[in-house]
Amino acid sequence: MTVSWTPHRFTGGILALDTANTVVLRNDPEKTFDRFDDPAEIARFAEAASGFRAAELGGRRLRAPDPGDIKPAVVSMREATDRLFRHAVSKGAIAVELLPEFLAACATGLSGSSAEIGAPGQPFGDPATPIAFEAALAVSALSLLRDETIARLRICPNCSWLFIDRSRNSSRLWCDMAVCGNRQKANRHYRRRTAVREASND
Ligand SMILES: [Zn+2]
Repeated sequence: MTVSWTPHRFTGGILALDTANTVVLRNDPEKTFDRFDDPAEIARFAEAASGFRAAELGGRRLRAPDPGDIKPAVVSMREATDRLFRHAVSKGAIAVELLPEFLAACATGLSGSSAEIGAPGQPFGDPATPIAFEAALAVSALSLLRDETIARLRICPNCSWLFIDRSRNSSRLWCDMAVCGNRQKANRHYRRRTAVREASND
């Protein structure tokens, strides 16, 4: 079954976290699954991310090569990113012991890329040509290492996704209020009603 890459699936706020979130429900070993199990989804994700992450990418589109070739590099970067920054959210600090794996995965993603990044208005290089998805993923993941970004990383208490809280007063709780926030509210409502019913049956 093909995945529909809806806006909800891009609530991480940055390409590297949207990619980390392609593994769903990491907090639940029974229900967790990987949307990149079918490698063809990586190209479809990259296509959608070119639109949803246009601001981060400075309008540069992502190019996904053959799914089989790209999958190992993408998955190792994705998992190293998730491990490093999930730990950073829970501990409030970067674990140095997780950095070599993360940096090595990013280095693999960048190797062979000749992009020039970080010029004014061209954070990922010249938007006239596409950038390899794995190179862009590495640039995005490395950009998370800034102190001010780490301070704004969160884990959604409902679905366990990683996201950046860019709200003015740093008070965003859910990856997506419309999905996870409402689900949690509905659960609370259901529990309250059940409790009232049980109490009145006494
Ligand atoms: Zn969520």
